[in-house]
Amino acid sequence: MKKFSWRKISEMLENIPASDCECRYPGYAGLWCRLIMAVTGYGMLRNTVAVIHGPTNCAWAVRNFCLTNYSLYCGNPFLHMPSTDIKQDDVISGGTDKLIATLTEVDRDYKPEHIAVFDTCSTALIGDDIETAIKTAQKTCNARLDYMPSAGFTSLPLGKSIEEITVKYADMMEAPTETIPDTVNILGQYKEQKRCKNAKYPDDSSELARMIEGIGLKIHRVLLSGNYDYIKTAPQASVNVISCPTWGIPLAIKMKEKFKTPYTNQAIPVGIKPTEKWLTELANFTNKNPGPFIGQEVEKLTPMFEKAENMVRGRVALIECGRNSQTAFARPMAMARALEELGMEVRLFGLHPMELKAKETDAGYFINEGFDPLLLDGDYAYQQPVNIKHILEDLGLKQGEYLYFTHDVFPAPNDGSRVETGVHLRRVKGAPGRGVGFKGAKALYETVIEAVIMSENRKFPTLYELVHRR
Ligand code: SF4
Repeated sequence: MKKFSWRKISEMLENIPASDCECRYPGYAGLWCRLIMAVTGYGMLRNTVAVIHGPTNCAWAVRNFCLTNYSLYCGNPFLHMPSTDIKQDDVISGGTDKLIATLTEVDRDYKPEHIAVFDTCSTALIGDDIETAIKTAQKTCNARLDYMPSAGFTSLPLGKSIEEITVKYADMMEAPTETIPDTVNILGQYKEQKRCKNAKYPDDSSELARMIEGIGLKIHRVLLSGNYDYIKTAPQASVNVISCPTWGIPLAIKMKEKFKTPYTNQAIPVGIKPTEKWLTELANFTNKNPGPFIGQEVEKLTPMFEKAENMVRGRVALIECGRNSQTAFARPMAMARALEELGMEVRLFGLHPMELKAKETDAGYFINEGFDPLLLDGDYAYQQPVNIKHILEDLGLKQGEYLYFTHDVFPAPNDGSRVETGVHLRRVKGAPGRGVGFKGAKALYETVIEAVIMSENRKFPTLYELVHRR
């Protein structure tokens, strides 16, 4: 039996060393190479080219990752990412001439609106002067050129890497000559970009936009998405609101510093009360009356909320923070907050301590909101899935006393008390994947009800469960 302990998020944060410290968790340097993180973010844009300043293999590593995990579902279906093809001789003589030549050729051949240069371990280690190379190439290129520092060996835990990447998008923006009244930017949409209107499975920004328009405001920009011109003019909005806090809060702070664009504090509204609060804060800021819209939405949802509440009150919600990656925090926390609203006792597990520390901004948001649930601490292998059976043993839970909420692409099979909440696999018609807003709340309550019914009527394990039994 594992030696588990459960601590409040605030207590764990106090005891975890700074996110760049290797003294207690040696060797942990964040999920994925930072280049992957930076390019996948950029892949949400259109009419752009990512120039990988490094060996072609770095570019292929990213290409492979994008094709299997991102391009199929969200953002640019095929982001061009030529490389400068740095070889052994180049790391002796320097690669900036190759970079200037590549930028010039990419501008000529692809004719994009924007080119971003992503450096890699080799070109960062030899200290290539990328900013000067970009300035030189910019003299003859039509596309706007920007630098995204992304060398893999500089990888920090995921949350910190994202903070450093997301603020770079403010560099692409221009100071506004005017502010457009009653317009709103949604910040922090990383994946889940809308590819078509009236989608069967809409994204989070569709639901947030529906709510914003429901109180009489207009959407100006959804970031990260669109082309260079779309991003450049983002500071013309009256206010920024935040979807994912990891991607959204640092960019909102940066835009306020740089362009004085104000932002609201609420983020990732999952559940009825957080959604009401998110929208009310925006309405108060813009002098709108949210009452009629919120009233009609809540009225429609109340019967289903009450049905779900009656079925799960007192049960434990076991919420996984990323089965293999152990990095997901804001989504599981938002889900936990919504489940607590349903009367469940929430427990989170499977989050590497350094990733919690690297997401102090997100943690601070939830703690300030008065939400500080228990998270699994103790003796278990990091970056290995935590066996759900061990959690059940530790808490002494039996079927009918809990629901298991997955948060990744490889959920653990169990007795059917499982609610699939991984963004890649969650498909509820008409509901956003991450479950924000009133439509997301409806889908959450529906799936919670289904999971309870399933777990109560199950006599035999599914084939999937049998195959994965350990
Ligand atoms: S870790 Fe370095 S060498 Fe490896 S793919 Fe990332 S940038 Fe390239």
